[in-house]
Amino acid sequence: MAVPDSLHVAARESCDLAIVGGGLIGLAVARELIRRHPTASVCVLEREEELGTHQSGHNSGVLHAGIYYAPGSLKARLCVDGARALYRYCAERGIAHGRCGKLIIATRASELPLLRELERRGIANGVEGLRSVDSAGIEALEPHARGIAGLHSPATGIVDFRAVTRAYAEDVLALGGSIATGCGVERVQLAARRLRLTHRRGSTEARHAIFCTGAWSDRLAVAAGADPDPRILPVRGAYLRLVPERRDLVRSLIYPVPDPSLPFLGVHLTRRVDGEVMIGPTALIAGARDAYRLRRVRGRDLLDTLAWPGTWRVLARSWRAGVAELRHAAQPSSLVRAAARYVPELRDADVLPAFAGIRAQALGRDGHLVDDFVLSATPRALHVRNAPSPAATSSLALARHIADEAERAFELPA
Ligand SMILES: Cc1cc2nc3c(=O)[nH]c(=O)nc-3n(C[C@H](O)[C@H](O)[C@H](O)COP(=O)(O)OP(=O)(O)OC[C@H]3O[C@@H](n4cnc5c(N)ncnc54)[C@H](O)[C@@H]3O)c2cc1C
Repeated sequence: MAVPDSLHVAARESCDLAIVGGGLIGLAVARELIRRHPTASVCVLEREEELGTHQSGHNSGVLHAGIYYAPGSLKARLCVDGARALYRYCAERGIAHGRCGKLIIATRASELPLLRELERRGIANGVEGLRSVDSAGIEALEPHARGIAGLHSPATGIVDFRAVTRAYAEDVLALGGSIATGCGVERVQLAARRLRLTHRRGSTEARHAIFCTGAWSDRLAVAAGADPDPRILPVRGAYLRLVPERRDLVRSLIYPVPDPSLPFLGVHLTRRVDGEVMIGPTALIAGARDAYRLRRVRGRDLLDTLAWPGTWRVLARSWRAGVAELRHAAQPSSLVRAAARYVPELRDADVLPAFAGIRAQALGRDGHLVDDFVLSATPRALHVRNAPSPAATSSLALARHIADEAERAFELPA
């Protein structure tokens, strides 16, 4: 069944379970819970006219293997399980993907302990096939890349996450769920044995709700009575793309050793399923939660960011990285130079501007950039408060985890 990008159906007036947010996580959660509870009425409410408009449609398209994450964390477990499940799902559904492998490259001696730590974490997390390589090994895998040591992950891949979003939506509809787009939830009220969700098309009374609203997750959680901590810090990630004649500079995925103080993976070169090669993303605090254009500023979004004590604490701690990121955002040549550290042949003339995505990064009042996936509860509701990368990769496993929590917290019909 083809899913139209725009689903202007009337939102249900009542249902057992409302899922707010039609990105990969909301749709995966809806799909998982309808499969477990086929008699429950489940309704997805999405604010935009199209599904997957935000992070799910603007990302690197990498199917992560689970290397970076602290052993024992939700990210570690759900990324490894989620990657396996997603490879299977894409094969079953004929979704474009490839197990192309990835190379993490150290270019300085000071990065070697971190590279070894990544290998230790990857092995502890159960990532298959990880292998250390020397400079000759780097060139054998990526002939145009240079470095003093590398870590190769053959299990990392690429995937069309927009197609995955569409396939999850098809599953939801085929299983009897409903999806209403153009249906932004503006108010959440607790009534007798129900939640009333007021949205642009009226209101929906739901026995329970799960909020998977990405960059807006803190606002809806607070509207439902949750603690305002953590707040979402919108971090803009812009990409460049290689001109077609220079795409052969990159065979698969080339990553740096990341800055351990930040929850981002650094400027990488990634081949996509359509053959394009991206360079990026930048990491700049954005003036709006939908700042796809660099200069877009929304007063409420900016005020929320500036009024949050955590913002100033993170800026005080990471100002050097902030200055470098400002440079990357203002001058494409600075981003090219960062990538040329591991692909030295790269020149300014090799790139064109591409798209940008906005990361929904949870930030504590104390300035702590929340690393792991976070779920919290209010009466009759669960809230996904932090689902940054690798949540797209992890979506099927994260949905199972959220569904387990929902079964503990809610009374759902069989
Ligand atoms: C630049 C970038 C690169 C990334 N690269 C990767 C990668 O390579 N691999 C990977 O695994 N992950 C990657 N990620 C992370 C991944 O894209 C996200 O973790 C994932 O898409 C999160 O899905 P989501 O459904 O939580 O959020 P979203 O896709 O943002 O969906 C949230 C939805 O909620 C809706 N919504 C918001 N408010 C309301 C409301 N009031 N009422 C109704 N609906 C509402 C929004 O419109 C939106 O559709 C990247 C992210 C970014 C930004």
